[in-house]
Amino acid sequence: MIRNTHPTLPEFEYIRPQSVGEACDFLTRHAADARPFLGGTDVFVRMRDGVLNPKYLVDVKALPGMQEIRFDPQSGLTIGAAVNMNRVIAAAETREHYPLLADACRSVASYQLRSRATVVGNICNASPAGDTLGACLAFNGVLHIQSSQGVRQELLSNFFRGPGKTTLQTGEIAAALFLPLPHAGSQGVYIKLGRNKLSDLSLVGVTALGYPDPGAPSGYRFRLILASVAPTPLIAKQAEDCLAAQPVTPASIQEAARLASEACAPIDDVRGSARYRKQMVKNLSARALTSVWEKLNRRGQNDISSD
Ligand SMILES: Cc1cc2nc3c(=O)[nH]c(=O)nc-3n(C[C@H](O)[C@H](O)[C@H](O)COP(=O)(O)OP(=O)(O)OC[C@H]3O[C@@H](n4cnc5c(N)ncnc54)[C@H](O)[C@@H]3O)c2cc1C
Repeated sequence: MIRNTHPTLPEFEYIRPQSVGEACDFLTRHAADARPFLGGTDVFVRMRDGVLNPKYLVDVKALPGMQEIRFDPQSGLTIGAAVNMNRVIAAAETREHYPLLADACRSVASYQLRSRATVVGNICNASPAGDTLGACLAFNGVLHIQSSQGVRQELLSNFFRGPGKTTLQTGEIAAALFLPLPHAGSQGVYIKLGRNKLSDLSLVGVTALGYPDPGAPSGYRFRLILASVAPTPLIAKQAEDCLAAQPVTPASIQEAARLASEACAPIDDVRGSARYRKQMVKNLSARALTSVWEKLNRRGQNDISSD
């Protein structure tokens, strides 16, 4: 038993299982009292604030595979659940193939925080403000989830069910995030609007990704995912479709940004009003899509000049 001298962090029992089976069994047997954790940067804050009061905290960081980051040029990137954000940023594979994810991680708080915080913890916490969720969704991420029954794979686009709510069941542990290979020529941008530059959650977050697709009428497809403006990260599907269906121009980008703003359902809270957020979604979506479009064009010109 760990006795805490901190006046506001409740006491808990620290459990460090040796195998996934042991961890899943423990979490199943103590369904009401136990919680898995990785970096703990959400769990401990919520315990201190009295939102959570688990009797047992199950440290899953040392389970097999949890610390691995592995790139397969045929299939994609696997990020073990316990890989912290600084390692994701530093990995050559992320920088080369998924720079949008590295940018999203870089927007999270401080270097110190990121040396604990994990992308998978960000996902499992399921806050609509989670900064890395947009990039993981844009890359069609899949969560590998383990339980006593074996492994199941869940598309992230199906995973989030509300603030703090996911499809995770009792006794299940997220073991890794898998990101398929990005489409050739993909370019992305993450814009985070917070009350300050450091250590604030987003008032609005806009993730945009674009790539050439000869099958689309415009010749391109875009992904646009919004943070902090709905109960879950919001995929602005109509805005995405709008830019695939017609030539990409300043006017069609403005139209897509308007559709994104219409799709979101923000709330008023301490960080900003719903009205302000809706307006910022429009402005920042237009800015993010324009920036992606410029990057796509620059890349296209470079390809031509290097032929
Ligand atoms: C000062 C401060 C600043 C912050 N700033 C930001 C910010 O700018 N942007 C942002 O997005 N977030 C921010 N956060 C929130 C937090 O750091 C992130 O959400 C982080 O990614 C959580 O990762 P973690 O590994 O610490 O998760 P943990 O706290 O360990 O876990 C998070 C949740 O996931 C569950 N969980 C953990 N591991 C598993 C697993 N393997 N399987 C199933 N469920 C699991 C836990 O029970 C818990 O509910 C901030 C937090 C603090 C304290």
